[in-house]
Amino acid sequence: MSGPAPHHGGVTSAVVVGAGLAGLTAATGLAARGVAVTVLEARDRVGGRTHGIAAAPGTQVDAGAAYLGGRHTELLALMAELGLKTTPTTMLGASRFGLGTAHTTQDGRFPPLNAVALGDLFEQLAELTEAVRPDAPWLTPDAERLDTLTAAEWAEQNLAHPDARLFFPLFLGEMMAADPAEVSVLHVAFYLRSGGGLRYLNAFEGGAQQDRVDGGAHQLCERLADRLGPRVRLGEPVRAVHQDAGQVTVRTDHGEHRADVAVLALPPLLADAIEHHPALPVRRAGERTARGCAVKVHLVYPAPVWRDHGLSGWSVNARGPLLSTVDDSPADGGIGVLTGFVTGAEAHRFAALDPEQQRATALRQAAELFPMLPDPLGCHVTDWVNEPYSQGCYAALLGPGDWLRLGPSLTAPHHRVHWAGTETSTAYFGLMEGAIRSGHRVVAEILARR
Ligand code: FAD
Repeated sequence: MSGPAPHHGGVTSAVVVGAGLAGLTAATGLAARGVAVTVLEARDRVGGRTHGIAAAPGTQVDAGAAYLGGRHTELLALMAELGLKTTPTTMLGASRFGLGTAHTTQDGRFPPLNAVALGDLFEQLAELTEAVRPDAPWLTPDAERLDTLTAAEWAEQNLAHPDARLFFPLFLGEMMAADPAEVSVLHVAFYLRSGGGLRYLNAFEGGAQQDRVDGGAHQLCERLADRLGPRVRLGEPVRAVHQDAGQVTVRTDHGEHRADVAVLALPPLLADAIEHHPALPVRRAGERTARGCAVKVHLVYPAPVWRDHGLSGWSVNARGPLLSTVDDSPADGGIGVLTGFVTGAEAHRFAALDPEQQRATALRQAAELFPMLPDPLGCHVTDWVNEPYSQGCYAALLGPGDWLRLGPSLTAPHHRVHWAGTETSTAYFGLMEGAIRSGHRVVAEILARR
């Protein structure tokens, strides 16, 4: 067996901060080139925004990232390398909608709202999406105006029909876990473009929700970390990164680690929470960068019982907490799992409740939404809003002014500090695919150092 290839560019050691997909991809790539790596992870687990929880004995479900599509080529390649398989997201049968005074059942996913008004909304979004510069949103024609305007203000100015106004926040919640008041319309356009366009991002079959990782997406990071072995250190929140002429010193609560370079593979708000010396020339997050707001609720049934009623498990609701639900049952059909998404402003409200109240309100709504189903056997709430080491769920939300101020320095190294994380990827920003691509980019960047 041949040993690792020799390293390049004089870099022999690296400290990687964050054991999410970006950090572990970067660490794996550097280690393969003979660089001595240490990965420092704040939590007592790897995976970051991918996280598996037990819905039933022996069955893990995705409490964080779950879905992927055929265009997520780096993710699919990584899965193949790690021996992981996809399982299709099931979407057969009728949907339930709670968009008016009563709940209705209807074939397909298109909501029972004015089709012309929704068509007009999607056309306007498609126009914005096509106009945005995917590699450099801050250079988009009219960027200054679009970056200043919140999505809520844009809707106020551009959506005349009440159905379009009702649906727009639900759509942004589902796509980006965003409250329209918190994101700029430039960020919405960029996010849709970066993710492959509105139609691809929104679709199940043939789109970004087509598949899941069989057994859970958390296995990606667990398998990467297994390969890295003791180089991954858990329970090591990084507090400070100090650079001198020759090296970087990364300080945690338990000690110091010196290396030629550091990779910070963190959401922007968490990168800013670290003390940097010399100080960062431009902070990673702006005054109005929001951390995203998502809570996932898993309702567990003895089997996917909704299928017996001709239902897909998909629902869209104007009233929360569960703004949408989807069938996330494991492929073996051993249990049924409906995942409820609580996003945007609704997630902030829901996250303020105590765990018992959260469960009670979710179960009450599930009973109204699916009165034909038996009571769930279990209800698991994963509250990302209050996760101190995420602060970007699904991903950081760039608010007014952010793209113009922060965009140009997104990936520029700060001397010996390099940046990774899904928020540094202009392709598939916010997704697992973006995180992995950022890991590959940072490896190439470090190997090219002189
Ligand atoms: P992270 O996973 O956030 O990794 C950063 C790591 O750094 C974490 O492990 C954190 O603990 C650690 N850390 C933070 N601060 C410190 C510190 N000071 N010192 C040391 N370590 C620190 N993507 C999809 O592709 N499909 C989906 O269906 C999807 N759904 C999602 C649903 C939810 C509810 C959430 C939360 C996310 C979802 N995403 C989805 C997004 C996806 O999870 C992320 O894009 C991706 O996992 C980000 O990886 P990352 O490595 O960039 O960041």
